[in-house]
Parts: sequence; C-alpha cells; structure tokens
Amino acid sequence: MKAVSLFSGGLDSILAARLIADQGIDVEALYFKTVFWGKYDDKLNRSLLENTASQAKAELTIIEADKAYFDVVKNPAHGYGKNLNPCIDCRIFILKTAKEYMLKRGASFLITGEVLGQRPMSQHRHVLNKIENASETPDIIVRPLSARLFKPSIPEQRGWIDRERLFAMEGRSRKPQLALAKKLGIKDFPNPAGGCLLADKIFSDKMRDMIKYERDFQANDINLIKSGRVFRLSPKAKLIVGRNEKQNNLLLDLARDMDYSFKTVDIPGPVGIGRGCFGADTIHKAASIIARYSDLEPGMKANIFYKKHPCDIDESISVMPAKEDELIAVRI
Ligand code: SF4
Repeated sequence: MKAVSLFSGGLDSILAARLIADQGIDVEALYFKTVFWGKYDDKLNRSLLENTASQAKAELTIIEADKAYFDVVKNPAHGYGKNLNPCIDCRIFILKTAKEYMLKRGASFLITGEVLGQRPMSQHRHVLNKIENASETPDIIVRPLSARLFKPSIPEQRGWIDRERLFAMEGRSRKPQLALAKKLGIKDFPNPAGGCLLADKIFSDKMRDMIKYERDFQANDINLIKSGRVFRLSPKAKLIVGRNEKQNNLLLDLARDMDYSFKTVDIPGPVGIGRGCFGADTIHKAASIIARYSDLEPGMKANIFYKKHPCDIDESISVMPAKEDELIAVRI
C-alpha cells in the first residue's frame, strides 16, 4: 500500500508522514516547489528536505509548480488573505495536483499535516471541507495529527491504517507536536514561521505591482523582485536595486536581453536592473536612484554607467541623486 504525503519539510508534515509510514505504508513525500516558497537556495533546500523526509521515513519527490501556480496567484476564486496569500485556492491547487500525482503513482490516499484550527484562514473545519470538495479529494485525505476529530477517511474505514494510532490535535499550540517529535526521535526540523513570500507584506506589495503592470510574469521576474528594492518608474518600466553585494550579483545573473543595467563609476554603489521600456526620462530617473543609494558626497553629481543587455558598451550619464520625495513617489 502506498500513500502520497504533502510535504513542506516543517514539523507537522514530517510527523504526519511518519505516523503513516510507521503503520507499514510506503509514503512518498511530495514537495511543491515554487519561487514563492522556501527560504533557502535550491541546493540547501533539497538537502534540508532530504534530511527531513528521511526522518519521516518517506521518499522525497519535488515537483515544480510555478507556471500553473501563477494563475492561482493572479486569479484566486476565493480571494486573498491578509496579504497576497491565496490560501484557499492554493490548498485546492495543491490537493488537486497531488491527487493527479497519487493516481499516476498508483497510490491509494493522501496525507496532510493539517491541524484543525491551527491557521486562521485555511484550517477551520468548514474551510477544510470546502477545500476537500473543490479539489475532489473527500475521504481520501488522512490528517494523522487531527484525524480523530474528523469522520473516518476511506483508509481508516477500510482498515488500511489504524485510526487508534492517529491523533486529535487542535488549535495553535505547538506543544503536542513537539512532544510527539521527541517521542519519535525527530530532532531536525525547520522553524514553522515564514516560508511563503505571499504572506509577507513587503513582497506582496511588489507582487501586486507586477500583477497590475506585467500580468504575463515568469519565475525570473519574481526572482528579480525578490533580490532588491523595487521602483515603478512608469507603467512600462521598473527598476530593481540591490541592497548588498550578494543582491547586486544576483540581479546581474537574472538580467535578460533588453534589460538595462545601471552602476556607479568611481564610487561604491548598488547595481540596478531596469526592465521594460526605457527612454531618456526613465534612464535619468533610474540613474538618480542609483546615485541616491551610492556613497556620493552630499551636493555632488554622480556618473552612472548604463547599458542595454546584451550590449557590452556602457554609456554614461551624470545626475544628482534622487530626493527623498522623488524616491517615495516611485518606491514599491
Ligand atoms: S500561506 Fe502561502 S503556501 Fe500557505 S496556504 Fe497560503 S498561499 Fe499557500
């Protein structure tokens, strides 16, 4: 018997998969990868996930969800949460995709680490029921941490798993999960906080701007706004400015043909990537923002190099740094 477990790498998902694996079921831990989730780079993320999946006694599979998931972010039928987090539609999307995957793999049911009442928007009973119905997964989801608070699922009814070995956890306290982790010898697990950029206010503002002006965005566009300060220079042009050397290098790696790059000459300063349609006015605006974040002496003009990729030849412009009110007017 095989089951597919939705796996974030957080403690609840480790415990849920492990409780079912300990009942002799082959568990595949399914991690959905999008540019919005995961605090670490790909390599570190994979090694953390492999470590946590092994503690869950599950085999890790990572699936990329970016393209299909973007539609959920742009048009969530059930709306957004406090920020740009489309939690209900996100869960529906994940369960639907996981069900398709389950059928393809010949698995018999799904496992989730959901705990009744733990999250305000998506883990209340009526919301969980709504999500189950919309994703066409009723009765095939086992929630090992809260299973005894729900009517028995098909795997429990048919005796594939023993309901008595599942739990009735409820609410926001982490104590029961931590106690269970201790009992099962599970030690390494990431902090549950964070992880979804869509729930972050600053990132949500940048995303809203992108949904408004660039509806056909791709993963590269999102990685770009993750890597610096964002300025909306015109409906068709924006500038992203690195905050440190790491971000400056990231931005240069992400630059595509037709993007502009901006940098200071002779004085330390950030890198900026301009994306969209740039004319003399927007180039001047972008250069003055780069000057504003450079180590320029007060009252002085800065020379800024800029070029349109993939051209190798820099052009130069001399500008005064942007004033505070000019900056506020365009900063996202
Ligand atoms: S917080 Fe993010 S990952 Fe979690 S359900 Fe909401 S949108 Fe999805």
